[in-house]
Amino acid sequence: MRFRVYLAILALSLWGNISLAEDVLKTVKISKNVYALVGPLGNRAPDNLGNNCNFGVIVTPEGVVLIDSGASYKGAEAIHAKIQTITSQPVRIVINTGGQDHRWLGNSYFIKQGARIIANRKAVSDQKARFQAQYNTLSSLIGDKLLAGTEAVYADKQFDSAMKLSLGGIDLEIHHVGQAHTPGDSFVWLPQQKIVFTSDIVYTERMLGVLAYSNSKTWLDAFNAIAALQPAHLVPGHGHPTDLQTARRDTYDYLTFLRTAVRDLIDAGIGIENVGKLDQEKFSYLKNYEILKGRNAQRVYEEMEFE
Ligand SMILES: [Zn+2]
Repeated sequence: MRFRVYLAILALSLWGNISLAEDVLKTVKISKNVYALVGPLGNRAPDNLGNNCNFGVIVTPEGVVLIDSGASYKGAEAIHAKIQTITSQPVRIVINTGGQDHRWLGNSYFIKQGARIIANRKAVSDQKARFQAQYNTLSSLIGDKLLAGTEAVYADKQFDSAMKLSLGGIDLEIHHVGQAHTPGDSFVWLPQQKIVFTSDIVYTERMLGVLAYSNSKTWLDAFNAIAALQPAHLVPGHGHPTDLQTARRDTYDYLTFLRTAVRDLIDAGIGIENVGKLDQEKFSYLKNYEILKGRNAQRVYEEMEFE
């Protein structure tokens, strides 16, 4: 009897994980046939299956274009379940906008559904270089059970600086400007609707992360290329769909502030061991501020020492 109750609870909690992962993504309609699936702002966790970021869904009469495939096989399943609440059209094309786990580790699931995968060449090299590390991190954050089925499958179609495609009458452009949050970050532009999916080039509401494989200088160039488009709608990599002004405040202004402040420290002969004292209070309204501010300053310092 007790065993049966235990089994029922276990079944409920397993079922709960899957349904939660689907529910943590919120569908936001951007315009006719264009949607953002908005993920949570915190870290990768069992309830989000690693999908702590945004995804894009473009519905056409010839199938769906999906922007980013999720951080795990089950994460991809959760994204697909969410897409099926919008349309019964199959996912035909998946674009991986960068090298982070949640941009590409769901590829194998969507290939099984018959999709083709597109990514920047540098994003693919980055994915290859970091797959094992990403897998290990996910294993500790979401657990091996929820990571089951996840494998490294790379884009079959790769491009260097830009690529145009069209599906069911909707035109898309994918642009890679330079290394931003990751070496192969790309943004997706829909010229007819003036919508941009920025990937990790733009973070809003939460503090962005400057990491060992980021470049804060060329990151600004990538942002400027997005700004030059004058988008009517901007879907950031993290944070709710917004406008260019908010994107500029939370991403461009923060990176510029960091680079200016760190340059002053270097010029004043202040060593990296004191970079933690840098006052970043102006950006304390961003989520994850306490966790990320010190590491960001340190990383920008390491970068600028050799500029
Ligand atoms: Zn990200």
